[in-house]
Amino acid sequence: MTALPIILVDSTDTRETLAERLRMQGYVVTVTPSAAEGAALALADPPAAVVADLWMPGISGVQLCRLLRGEPATERVPVILRGPELDRHSRFWADRAGAAAYVGLGRMGDLVRALGAAIASTIPSQDSFIQLCGEEERDIRDRIAAHLDTALFESLVASEIRALSACGSFGRLLDLLAQFVSRVSSYRWLSVYTQRPERLGLHTHPLAYQRSEEEARAVMAPFIASGNSLTLPILKVEDEDAYDDATGASPIQFPIRLGPDVIGAVALAPRETPHSKDVALLSIIARELAGPIRIVALIEESQRLATVDPLTGLMNRRAFTASLDREVARSQRHGYPLCVLLLDVDHFKAINDHRGHPSGDAVLAALGPLLVRQIRKVDLAGRWGGEEFVVALTGADAPGALVSAERIRAAIAAMEVRDSVGEPIPVTVSIGVASYEKGDHVDGLIDRADRAMYAAKSSGRNRVTAAREPDREPPSAKRMDLPGSEPTRVERDNSAPLRLD
Ligand code: GH3
Ligand code: MG
Ligand code: MG
Repeated sequence: MTALPIILVDSTDTRETLAERLRMQGYVVTVTPSAAEGAALALADPPAAVVADLWMPGISGVQLCRLLRGEPATERVPVILRGPELDRHSRFWADRAGAAAYVGLGRMGDLVRALGAAIASTIPSQDSFIQLCGEEERDIRDRIAAHLDTALFESLVASEIRALSACGSFGRLLDLLAQFVSRVSSYRWLSVYTQRPERLGLHTHPLAYQRSEEEARAVMAPFIASGNSLTLPILKVEDEDAYDDATGASPIQFPIRLGPDVIGAVALAPRETPHSKDVALLSIIARELAGPIRIVALIEESQRLATVDPLTGLMNRRAFTASLDREVARSQRHGYPLCVLLLDVDHFKAINDHRGHPSGDAVLAALGPLLVRQIRKVDLAGRWGGEEFVVALTGADAPGALVSAERIRAAIAAMEVRDSVGEPIPVTVSIGVASYEKGDHVDGLIDRADRAMYAAKSSGRNRVTAAREPDREPPSAKRMDLPGSEPTRVERDNSAPLRLD
């Protein structure tokens, strides 16, 4: 067997003794006290292995190892690093730098075994070596600096991306990602696609939106699991951190993988010819983004489960109360009008009793989307419990809210729901309407709407009743006749005294 060449880099006085012992094991050992010289020797004529001290003055064993790993000539040469045996920190760094093994100082047996194992598992390299010219030491230092810069850049990008895990929503993740990427790269648009839940996000310049959207949809099409790359709604972030150039380099895209599965993709349209830095940047982003995407999806899902009523798809009571609380505070601060509608399905128990519980559920399930269709985006709708629903109309005063309530009542009465045997189920609701008065709290507002709703029940059901205003002593009720709601069903809550303006 031909003797294998190894390079021993050891800055201590005992290096010759160590070299001698390795020679006795049959290795041809070249000894040097300097990591720079060791690197130059290894790059010029790659040995079977390099043994180096982890901590050395000047260039450390970790830096030497990173350099040899990063250079094509020596990428397969195993590096064994030596350091204090029980020092976990050194062991960690040796591992991160790509060392084949970490061996305790003075552990000759361990070193010989590690050398043997590392050399045996090395895939022989093609005979590539590089010619070092000029000042070797400088060249090595520059190379090490370049490798370290790359490693530092990668770790900074990775930590920025990982920090997105805490952002709580996909929209915010996209926004923060765009803020970060636009600091390190100039691009026309940046897009992120996630499969579950299926979402397509796009950061673009506002003036270039249409162009960017078309391009992003086309680039992302191969990844879009549902196949509807043309119709998938886009979550957009528009600002001037992206450029509105009419043309630019072709987009770069990477799949986002979690283990063996592709869970999404990320794409970037550079302004000019893609710089290798853009490609490197996007590949790190793709590698690191899987974790944050999964965590954000889990957070969103758990928030959804905690706030959404599964049968109707509306906010549950707790979520509605919290949202209404915010609206009440806004009305308090800015004097915005606000009205609350409490709806209760009439004779719902009879639906359950005569047509079965699933038919009752079908009615409730149909009411959720109907309410959402009847209100504006800024309004709130929730399931208060059982067959009771609650709506908050923001910016609506009492007369406006009564008109809306009557429209909702009529829409429900006209709604088509069928029971389990296909028979239509007639559904009506009684609605109580309360309007916000200065100093009101959520409880008071809901309570007045509730009492008005009961007044609607007792005066015949399938009607809208306005609550009396709080802490006033009005003398009598006032019927409100509204156009298009014959017979008139909007009434004041007569169970309590009412003030007339
Ligand atoms: P009223 O006109 O006075 O409101 O009479 P009602 O029958 O609607 O009122 P009641 O309070 O007597 O009955 C409400 C019923 O709603 C009783 C309850 O079993 C039923 N219920 C509550 N939650 C659900 C649900 O999620 N699904 C179904 N199918 N029924 C429900
Ligand atoms: Mg009820
Ligand atoms: Mg009821």
